[in-house]
Amino acid sequence: MGALDGQVAVITGASSGIGAATARLFAAEGARLALLDVNPVPGDLLGLGEVTTHVTDVTDAAAVERAMAEVAERHGRIDVLVSSAGILDRVPFLEMSPERFDHIIAVDLRGVFLAARYAAPYMVEAGRGRIINIASQLGIKGGAGLAHYVAAKAGVIGLTKALALELAPMGVLVNAIAPGPIETPLIGGRPEEWKREKAAELPLGRFGRPEEVAPTALLLASSPGGDIYVGQTLGPNSGDVMP
Ligand code: NAP
Repeated sequence: MGALDGQVAVITGASSGIGAATARLFAAEGARLALLDVNPVPGDLLGLGEVTTHVTDVTDAAAVERAMAEVAERHGRIDVLVSSAGILDRVPFLEMSPERFDHIIAVDLRGVFLAARYAAPYMVEAGRGRIINIASQLGIKGGAGLAHYVAAKAGVIGLTKALALELAPMGVLVNAIAPGPIETPLIGGRPEEWKREKAAELPLGRFGRPEEVAPTALLLASSPGGDIYVGQTLGPNSGDVMP
């Protein structure tokens, strides 16, 4: 028996990094997957049992609503949503254009809102569900050159608390994960020297891997492990932040 046997899990940002690792783990635990990403889903994920793919931009409200309806129609329900789609951009605040700010907020915050907004009705109807939003430890500690990203991720943590309060009485548990630096393409382009220095600052002395974040999502998605988490932000972060 897998921890998610027969459950339907929607994962955004599923084509890469934390989303892809979560897809692999959830499939191994028996989940049926609906994988959403702005990019096509890599071939190895297509073999993970009963999988549907939805090339969807999470900033597009109509497309997100349509994708959730397709999932519900195809699989009959939505039990779990993991919102992992996200982008990172660095720019000094004094050079940050309003457009650049808006773009990060649109993907990293509004995209999380839209996915929850259009998945939650199916969960409320069923009287149960789990929503897991991938935030970032930078939403707690801040970060220079990242005003837009930090604002978005702090927003995800706040959004998570608001949704948790509103939806818990209807059986839908909403929580967030705020990872520290994780070895994915999101930060793959950073200079090696930055990575060495950053890793040395961490109590653990190294970055995390996506497969080390996915089990936190599994905990929050599963029962009884996730049954009494409501509005929490869990921190698989190599010790970077200790709230
Ligand atoms: P990743 O490997 O780049 O995966 C993110 C996926 O989301 C990519 O496939 C990306 O496509 C996709 N995506 C981007 N914009 C999208 C949109 N508008 N609609 C749908 N999909 C979109 O990054 P990751 O490291 O796994 O990040 C996953 C989440 O964890 C993000 O929310 C990120 O902010 C958060 N996080 C990451 C770290 C880290 O150190 N890696 C730390 C803390 C939090 P493209 O490749 O085309 O952009």
